[in-house]
Amino acid sequence: MDMRAMDDAESSEAVDALKTAAVCAPPPPPAAAMFTRMVKLRLLNAVAPAYFSVATVVTFILYFYLFIPTIFPGPDSALGSSGTALHALAFLFLMFNALGNYVMTIKYPAESANESAVPVCSPHCSDKVDAHYLLNGRHFCKLCKKVILKRDHHCFFTGNCIGNRNMRYFIMFCVYTSCTCLYSLVLGVAFLTLEYDVCFRNPLTFLTLLPLSTGHFFMGTISGLHLFLVLMLYVWLGIGLVCAGFCCQQVLLVARGQTWCQLQRGELVDCHSPWRNNLRDVFGTRWLLGLILPVQTAVPTQEAEELKLD
Ligand SMILES: [Zn+2]
Repeated sequence: MDMRAMDDAESSEAVDALKTAAVCAPPPPPAAAMFTRMVKLRLLNAVAPAYFSVATVVTFILYFYLFIPTIFPGPDSALGSSGTALHALAFLFLMFNALGNYVMTIKYPAESANESAVPVCSPHCSDKVDAHYLLNGRHFCKLCKKVILKRDHHCFFTGNCIGNRNMRYFIMFCVYTSCTCLYSLVLGVAFLTLEYDVCFRNPLTFLTLLPLSTGHFFMGTISGLHLFLVLMLYVWLGIGLVCAGFCCQQVLLVARGQTWCQLQRGELVDCHSPWRNNLRDVFGTRWLLGLILPVQTAVPTQEAEELKLD
């Protein structure tokens, strides 16, 4: 078969696929519903980074101005000044890595350098979510307004799409954010026990602590700071568990060579490369360094990535 005949066969297959998609695809949602959905997503895209920044600043202030002076009051405390310094160093290390990987996720986006206009959608584009599905794992994100290579999902906390290039930073951001939150939760529990005599021996304390504290606050028996710290315990617990779960899910997807977008469309990737290679593609050859510092461990060129996809 010559090249022209092959091209004709491919184009007729593409037309058939488009026809099939047109018949099988669900009807698009009304324009008003799409508009409302996009407004909500854009609002979330603005609110989530602000929430993250406020939570970070509040955690920092509580740690150094309340927890450390109260739990480790001085050299005479049980842990002594070296123990206090170790705790402060551990906290700064976790915070540095969480924020460093957050910045790297934004600094190295997964966008394609060669495509800036909205390209033609693939036959499988449902156009009911926040992105147009193109071919070869590329998406046009309506929030980022960019073509993203091997898109996984749009992260509202970073306001960026997560793809192959920034997946490693995103996973490490989840790991260190989870550790920082769970560590802050432990110190928060210690502070409330020491300062306000709250007892955490009963495993059901976390179920009753918030409603009881809210009731006591409105009766005037506890202070606003006390209630705020109780609220922060739930914030740290929630973010810590969500980030840990999200991190495990992302690592499993990366090991399988699959993306969240593919999973949502019900596509199971028939990946022949071993999980070690899939992980190395994302975490790089110097992955050990990447576990402890927010630095580049793989420097894939844009051209190489686009060639790999096309
Ligand atoms: Zn995006």
